Amino acid sequence: MTFMLRQSRLAVSTVANGLRALSTAPSAATSQGHPEVAPFGISFQLSPEQKEYQETARKFAREEIIPKAAEYDRTGEYPWDLIKKAWSLGLMNSHIPEHCGGMHLGILDTCIITEELAYGCTGVQTAIEANSLGQMPVILMGNEAQQKKYLGRMLEEPLMCSYCVTEPGAGSDVAGVRTRAVKKGDKYVLNGQKMWITNGGHANWYFVLARTDPDPKAPAGKAFTGFIVDGDSPGLTRERKEWNMGQRASDTRGITFEDVEVPVENVLGQEGMGFKIAMGAFDKTRPPVAAGAVGLAQRAMDEATRYAMERKTMGKAICEHQAVAFMLADMAIGIESSRLATMRSAWEVDQGRRNTYYASIAKAMAGDVANKCATDAVQIFGGNGFNSEYPVEKLMRDAKIYQIYEGTAQIQRLIISREMLSQAKQRL
Ligand SMILES: Cc1cc2nc3c(=O)[nH]c(=O)nc-3n(C[C@H](O)[C@H](O)[C@H](O)COP(=O)(O)OP(=O)(O)OC[C@H]3O[C@@H](n4cnc5c(N)ncnc54)[C@H](O)[C@@H]3O)c2cc1C
Repeated sequence: MTFMLRQSRLAVSTVANGLRALSTAPSAATSQGHPEVAPFGISFQLSPEQKEYQETARKFAREEIIPKAAEYDRTGEYPWDLIKKAWSLGLMNSHIPEHCGGMHLGILDTCIITEELAYGCTGVQTAIEANSLGQMPVILMGNEAQQKKYLGRMLEEPLMCSYCVTEPGAGSDVAGVRTRAVKKGDKYVLNGQKMWITNGGHANWYFVLARTDPDPKAPAGKAFTGFIVDGDSPGLTRERKEWNMGQRASDTRGITFEDVEVPVENVLGQEGMGFKIAMGAFDKTRPPVAAGAVGLAQRAMDEATRYAMERKTMGKAICEHQAVAFMLADMAIGIESSRLATMRSAWEVDQGRRNTYYASIAKAMAGDVANKCATDAVQIFGGNGFNSEYPVEKLMRDAKIYQIYEGTAQIQRLIISREMLSQAKQRL
């Protein structure tokens, strides 16, 4: 690798919102050398910095991730060597604010990087992306001291963190969270059990959502509080690594809290704000999750296309059979559409606008497309597709989680329909 984002970022002062470049149409104004003219209209031109992010991530995925992905999938070992390299190249923790020493990239910039990493292996990409999910509540609501302490250290060495919300009895129904936090003097004492926590076994610290109002009738918007909990807190137990259907390089665990003491200075925002903080993070993290699904779908299409051009039946390459060619065409339709939806959702939030509707559309669509593309890639490989010597069965197993985590496919449709209907009530 000749190029490191970490260093390049220091030399670049205008990339904080990468979408600025995306929306800079190759208009008469810019082509005539007046780049200061405010851009209007639509353009799909990446900025030079975004092209560098893409190229660095692509090279890393092709040269470093792909050769090791099958082995990490087989063993379930945590891919520390890849994470350390991604960290040294600046391919993770990209949202951390500049006052902590971070690159403070936009969400679109992250999507560009994430799609490339996911092309290599979505297990590795999920481990990396889970850091953004864990960090996002601190980025959104952390005070300067919290940000410096917990985000700053992640730039000094490769450390992981986790978003610790789901429980055995509360996934889609976040308001059903039962982990309790009780204030005692200048500390809160946490008791409860979390489940399916990505990076759970390796997190240096956790964003934890706990109930602080014992009144079961208290509205969700006031009943919960968000905490930063140190990974070495006495009473915090990392349970066994779960052996999942796919994305096995990613570490998923239950986390148990038994009388875990958390200082009041580790409360995010104020007591009672936790639910909004936990949900608000998704507007910024769902676009990159969608980008991961797009990366997987693109990989499935590329693998299937290469195979279909080589494999011959009835005297011709199988891509010459219309039934196979149309499966590839459907993959292309899905990938192009979900990539556009992902970019739109990232662009909206980079503009400082509420993107909940677009983020759910992108996440739902890209998750479904990834599953269709991976399943059809297995089909195109025939018997070989069903075998672990070939790369597509892993893609099919890895794809499924995109319809489950960060809000299931059904929950995304619930959000989209609510948003859409509330707009319709004003418009129609
Ligand atoms: C590999 C993996 C990694 C994860 N990482 C994290 C993490 O880092 N942090 C974290 O906090 N959580 C994490 N999760 C949890 C994940 O977000 C939840 O599994 C997910 O939100 C679904 O919750 P659930 O499993 O409780 O399913 P349930 O909520 O019980 O849903 C079961 C089914 O019912 C449907 N359903 C539920 N409610 C409704 C409704 N109102 N309308 C229509 N359909 C509905 C769902 O769509 C689903 O099909 C992870 C999960 C997995 C498997």
